[in-house]
Amino acid sequence: MRIGVFVCWCGSNIAKTVDVEKVVEAAREMPGVVYATDYKYMCSEPGQNIIQDAIKEHKLDRIVVASCSPRLHEPTFQRCVEAAGLNPYMVEMANIREQCSWVHDRTPEATQHAIDLVRMAVAKVAKNEPLTRSRLGITRKALVIGGGVAGIQAALDIADAGYPVVLVERTPSIGGHMAQYDKTFPTLDCAACILTPKMVDCASHPLIEIWSYSEVEEVNGFVGNFEVKVRRRAKSVDESKCTGCGLCLEKCPVKDIPSEFDEGTGTRRAIYRPFPQSVPNKPVIDRDHCRYFQTGKCGVCQKICPVGAIDYEQQDQVVTEKFGAIVVATGFDVWRDERAMAQFGYGKYPDVISSLQFERLMNASGPTDGKIVRPSDGKTPRSIAFISCVGSRDEEHGYPYCSKVCCMYNAKQALLAKDKLHDVQTYVFYMDIRANGKGYEEFVRRTIEEYGANYIRGRVSRVYPDGDQLVVKGADTLLGRPLEVRVDLVVLATAMKPHDDAKELARKLGISTDQYDWFSEAHPKLRPVEVLTDGIYLAGACQYPKDIPDTVAQASGAASKVVGLFSKEAILSEAMTAYVNEDTCVGCGLCVEVCPFGAIELVEVVDREKSTRDNQVMKKVARVNEGVCKGCGTCAAACRSGSARLRGFDTKQILAEIDALADAALAGRQ
Ligand code: FAD
Ligand code: SF4
Ligand code: SF4
Ligand code: SF4
Repeated sequence: MRIGVFVCWCGSNIAKTVDVEKVVEAAREMPGVVYATDYKYMCSEPGQNIIQDAIKEHKLDRIVVASCSPRLHEPTFQRCVEAAGLNPYMVEMANIREQCSWVHDRTPEATQHAIDLVRMAVAKVAKNEPLTRSRLGITRKALVIGGGVAGIQAALDIADAGYPVVLVERTPSIGGHMAQYDKTFPTLDCAACILTPKMVDCASHPLIEIWSYSEVEEVNGFVGNFEVKVRRRAKSVDESKCTGCGLCLEKCPVKDIPSEFDEGTGTRRAIYRPFPQSVPNKPVIDRDHCRYFQTGKCGVCQKICPVGAIDYEQQDQVVTEKFGAIVVATGFDVWRDERAMAQFGYGKYPDVISSLQFERLMNASGPTDGKIVRPSDGKTPRSIAFISCVGSRDEEHGYPYCSKVCCMYNAKQALLAKDKLHDVQTYVFYMDIRANGKGYEEFVRRTIEEYGANYIRGRVSRVYPDGDQLVVKGADTLLGRPLEVRVDLVVLATAMKPHDDAKELARKLGISTDQYDWFSEAHPKLRPVEVLTDGIYLAGACQYPKDIPDTVAQASGAASKVVGLFSKEAILSEAMTAYVNEDTCVGCGLCVEVCPFGAIELVEVVDREKSTRDNQVMKKVARVNEGVCKGCGTCAAACRSGSARLRGFDTKQILAEIDALADAALAGRQ
C-alpha cells in the first residue's frame, strides 16, 4: 500500500488558520503514507499536475486530498487520479476547510483538528476498494411540464436539436402568464407578437406533442429512464374532428363564468378556449359548469357543431410513457389572500385590482378591448395608484423575498396607462426601486421623466373609499410626512409565489423545494438549472421570481442540459450504491420505507438456508435498483440486520476511521 497525502492551502482559506506544513509533517508519519506535500490551490491545473506526477514517481496507489468539501471537488480529484491510471474511488478527501479552518480561529486547535481529519481519511483510504460504474441506456425523449414561455422555449430548443418532446400543460392552452400581457418591459414589444409565433411553432413542430388539459400523476425511474403517468383530462371535444370554427362558443347558453385567463375581469362560456389565439385552438367543456353535465339537459354545442366533434362520453386517459429527461417549467402564481390584503380593500372594493387584472384591462384582446376602465362603473379613471411590494418583502403578512419583476411591471403599467389615457395621473408607491436588468433603469427613468409618473417612496397603510374615489393613505418617507392621495383606481403588485400544489409535484418528481415551496436547484451558483435528482432540470419562474429574459435564458440552459444528456452513448450509474446481502436480509422492508429515492423493492428469492433439494422455500428480500440509488446510505443506517450496505462506506472503512482517531487520542495525539 502506497498512500500519498496532498494538503491544500485554498489560498488563505485554509492556510490562514491551519499550519499546513505541520499537517504535511504529521501525515508523513501516518501508516501507509509514503509521500505528502502541500500546494496553494490543489484543484488548479498545477495542483492536479503535482498529484499526477507524484502518483507516477512514487507509485502511489491511494490518495488523500486535504482541502474543501467533497461536494465541491470530489469529482475533480477523481478525474485527476483516473487520468494518472488509478481507480477514481481510490481517492479520499479530508474536509479541512468547511469542517476545520472556517470554524476555528486559533491555529494550534485548527491544525490538530486538520491532522485528525487527515488521519481518518488515510485510515479509510487504506480500506478502499476499486469501484466501477455500469452503463445504462437512455430513452431519447424529453418531458416538459408547464407550457409557459419557459416550457415553450425548452421544448423548441430540444426538438430543434432533433429529439422528441412531450409538452404537458394543465390548462387548455399553452402560453402561461406571458399570454395575458399586452406589452412587455423593457422593450414594450407586443407580448402576443413574440409569444404566439413560438406557440404555433410548438404546435407545428414535427417532434413536439402538446398534451394540454393534462397533468403528471406519477413519476418512476431514473435519469435516462423515467416512466411517467400523465392524466389527459377529457376535453369532451374530439380534437381530431374539431376545426376550431368556434360556432359552439357563440351558442353555449352558460355565459357568465369568471374567466381564469382574464383574472375574473371578464367571463367565459362553459365550452371555451382561454383566449382567441389559444394553442391548441380547440375548445374544451368545463364539466363543472356545463348544463348538460350538471342537469342532463342542453346539448346545444353538440347540435351546432358542423363536424360532430362534441363528445360527452369522452373519458380521462391515463397514459404511461418513457422519457430520458424532464424539464420542470410550471411557473408561478400570484398572492391572492384577500384577508391578508384587507388593509388595501382587495376583494372588498371593486376598484382595487391586482396587476394581473390590470394587464388584462390593458390588453387589446382582453375583456375591454384594451380600454382601461374602472370595474365598478366602466368609467375611464383619471388617476391610478400602483402599490408595490404587496405581500413581497413582508414577513408579517406575506413573503420576505423580493418578487423581482414588480418594480418593472409597475413602471410598465404606469407608462402604458399614460400612453393610453393622456390626462391620467399616475402614482407609484414603492419601498425602493429594483430595476436590475439590461435597459431597466433607463425604462423606469423614462416612465418618470417622459411619462410623468409620480413616484412616492413609502409604505401604504390603508386604502379606503371616499365618495366614488379611493383614498390611498401612507407616508412619504423621503419628505418624512404622512400622505393621502385620492385616486379612481388602485393596482396592487402582489407577490409572486409558487403554485399551491408545487410541493405535491416535487414529491412526485422526487425533487426538493425551499422554505417557500419554490423548486430547489442543485447549487445556487454552479448548477442553477439542475436539481439533485439527475435528469430533471428547472426552467423559469418555478424556481424563483424571474422576468422573461431570465426565464428564456434558463429554459435554453435546461434544454442544452437535456441535449447534452441525450447526446451521450450511455449513462454511467453511481458507483457508491447500496447493496443487500440477501442471505442475511429478513425482508422487514424498513429500507424500502426510508429510501428517499424509491430505489429499493422487496423481491421473492429462494431461501438457501431453509430449502432442501426436494423442497424449495421462498423468502422476501430487499433488492436495490442501482440505476436509481443515489448512495445516500439511509438504508444502510436503518437496516437492523446489517444486510443493507453502501459501497465506498463499508463498516470496515467507517470503523477504521474511528479507530484511527481513538488510537491517536489515546496516544496523546501529535
Ligand atoms: P408561467 O408563465 O407561470 O407558465 C407556467 C405554465 O405552467 C402555465 O401555463 C401553467 O398553467 C403551467 N403549469 C403550472 N403547473 C403545472 C402542472 N403541475 N402541470 C402542467 N402545467 C402546469 N416579465 C417581463 O420580462 N416583462 C413583463 O412585461 C412582465 N410583466 C409581468 C406582469 C405581471 C403582472 C406579472 C405578475 C409578471 C410579469 N412578468 C414580466 C414576469 C413573467 O410573467 C414571467 O417571467 C414569466 O411568465 C415566467 O414564465 P414561466 O413559463 O416560467 O411561468
Ligand atoms: Fe367548431 Fe365543433 Fe370545434 Fe366547436 S367543437 S369549435 S363547433 S368544430
Ligand atoms: Fe417590491 Fe420591487 Fe421587489 Fe416587487 S420587485 S417585491 S415591487 S422591491
Ligand atoms: Fe429489512 Fe435490512 Fe432487509 Fe431492508 S435490507 S428488508 S431493512 S433486513
